[in-house]
Amino acid sequence: MKILVTGGAGYIGSHTVIELQAVGHEVVVVDNLVNADLVSLKRVERITGKAVPFVEADIRDREAMEQVCQTYCFDCCIHFAGFKAVGESVLQPWKYYDNNITGTLVLLDVLGKSGCKNLIFSSSAAVYGEPETIPVTETCPRGRCANPYARSKSIQEQIMMDMQKADPEWNIVLLRYFNPIGAHRSGMIGEDPKGIPNNLMPYITQVAVGKLEKLSIFGDDYDTVDGTGVRDYIHVVDLAKGHVKVLDSIAGQCGLEIFNLGTGVGYSVLDVVRGFEKANNVKILYEIKERRAGDIAVCYSDPGKAERMLGWKAEYGLEDMCRDSWNWQKRNPNGFTD
Ligand code: NAD
Ligand code: UDP
Repeated sequence: MKILVTGGAGYIGSHTVIELQAVGHEVVVVDNLVNADLVSLKRVERITGKAVPFVEADIRDREAMEQVCQTYCFDCCIHFAGFKAVGESVLQPWKYYDNNITGTLVLLDVLGKSGCKNLIFSSSAAVYGEPETIPVTETCPRGRCANPYARSKSIQEQIMMDMQKADPEWNIVLLRYFNPIGAHRSGMIGEDPKGIPNNLMPYITQVAVGKLEKLSIFGDDYDTVDGTGVRDYIHVVDLAKGHVKVLDSIAGQCGLEIFNLGTGVGYSVLDVVRGFEKANNVKILYEIKERRAGDIAVCYSDPGKAERMLGWKAEYGLEDMCRDSWNWQKRNPNGFTD
């Protein structure tokens, strides 16, 4: 299939391009590089041995997007492009709504008019808010979102649902990712956050590599096994493979489907710290701090629907995720700028 990958130079997108090319899909990446470095795609090319056609464009730029769609006549779009920093979204909500929602509106319009009505969208477990039930199934309602980032994902989902209802030729798959961590086994690509990381694993790897002094653990008084927050961490390569499975299994069927992509296993912050120390034989200094505003105690998936309908199941465990995150960080202490 000929696939438009928006945001394909980013963390999850670049790993997905590898898996798509590995099974013979033709990929074109559109990215404005606002949160990525082109070096990531050069590394992808080294890993796969195949060229990655790249167009530097903002998905809100209608003319540029029309041009790309006309040139390539895509069969499907995998839509990763968007902003994702929760804290920044609280401070700059307009920026998030504009980029994530306007971007999606322009993209949907241009794609539809070009005749490409197959779309896979990067959504998030954040749309569940404080989930009604654990493990979270896809039938759990979208909840009260804790921040503009999560709300932008929830709104994008709703827009896609409404569009699909109005035009049943659309075939849309909403993938709700849990907590992606890890990196490609080669250590050549991985997560490269700008500035001080917000997320747990990049913070841990930067402590391990000596760029940050110690990890702050946000709260040890939750109602969990050890008091720290519990999440469903999933290896980014497993996540990437999930997209390929969607293309294999339900491509061409009109409708809208939602899948959780997680492992179904919850680990606490301390589990991750200890798992990282054990897998890599490095010490992670930490201190317990106040709870972080907007955090919930526990969130992990029921990934059963993806297994039943897509034949997809996460294969990597915590040890693999910790090993691969560290392998990437220690080989690239300054990310892609090395
Ligand atoms: P990322 O920031 O590494 O990748 C996003 C890419 O989109 C970047 O390369 C960025 O330059 C590009 N981009 C942003 N706005 C754009 C625009 N207007 N036009 C063109 N390109 C644009 O993030 P990621 O972790 O790879 O996440 C990919 C998607 O998955 C995002 O939509 C994110 O919200 C979603 N998601 C991520 C996580 C996570 O923890 N990483 C969890 C759930 C959902
Ligand atoms: N966390 C932490 N210290 C950090 C970053 C995160 O203790 O520096 C905790 C956070 O409170 C949550 C878990 O790690 O319980 C995962 O947080 P992350 O930001 O990675 O993902 P989230 O699930 O919030 O999207």
